[in-house]
Amino acid sequence: MSWPESIVSWIGGETLGIASAHHKAQVIGTVVTSRLPLQDVVSISEIPTDELGTFSGEIPRTLPPGEAAKAKARMGFEASGIPLQVSTEASFYSHPQIMGLTIHEELVLLADFSKERYYWGIIRSLDTWGPQISLTDFNTAQDWLTAHHQKDHHWMIIPSPETQHSFPPQKALPSPEAVIQALQALNLNGDSFQLVPDYRAHLHPGRMQIIEQATHQLVDTLLSICPVCNQPGFAIQSKLPGLPCKYCGSPTQRTMYQVRKCNVCGNETRETIPNQPAEADPIDCEVCNP
Ligand SMILES: [Zn+2]
Ligand SMILES: [Zn+2]
Repeated sequence: MSWPESIVSWIGGETLGIASAHHKAQVIGTVVTSRLPLQDVVSISEIPTDELGTFSGEIPRTLPPGEAAKAKARMGFEASGIPLQVSTEASFYSHPQIMGLTIHEELVLLADFSKERYYWGIIRSLDTWGPQISLTDFNTAQDWLTAHHQKDHHWMIIPSPETQHSFPPQKALPSPEAVIQALQALNLNGDSFQLVPDYRAHLHPGRMQIIEQATHQLVDTLLSICPVCNQPGFAIQSKLPGLPCKYCGSPTQRTMYQVRKCNVCGNETRETIPNQPAEADPIDCEVCNP
């Protein structure tokens, strides 16, 4: 494979630290070593990333996701002395328009602490497995779990916000049976509890797939070279609507362009989106379908 000169002179033959647990390092490492001219990838897993927040809510995340990812990468740098670091950060939040739908956002960051530069891969998924419910009785829990369990995924039991009886979160439960056993052991006496996915990547294959996609997107961004200053990371920053209607030609809300911006020299360009039809369906047109 041949790489752009600015990629080779920047990371050619370098070591990349992955500031994360082993299992994520394997997925990320496979993608970056197959697509970039790195010498080596090192997993830096002995860093206290839980300090920045846990999915069980025991430690709330106080930083915005991007800052949390930077903080993890910096921990990796400080622990290893390797200035090139990758880290990840996941968020799960309610869809702003569609009730009951959860958005899974996965950030993968490559930080270069020798230049204080940051590059991102971001994937937002609506399909990530993430059922959750607040309950008080075990029979309902049993039925609900049977309906919602997905193979190879894991559960947590955490206290409901309104619960009287606080208990330590029960994690990494691999099956509905394991959840019911753990519930029985908790002695809740009719108090409410929440069943939620254990989102830690090694216990959630669906999340791991999104991490892999976000890593590919990060590499796509790195390999996009600014035509003005020749530096890597000419990233897609935004998308603009305006795709013309097939019948009347009026601009629609459908995406027409993507905007790339270079964070080194500020160069910005607008380009049409590859593999997209040149016109919008009239169903999306304010004029034809008001
Ligand atoms: Zn530039
Ligand atoms: Zn139209």
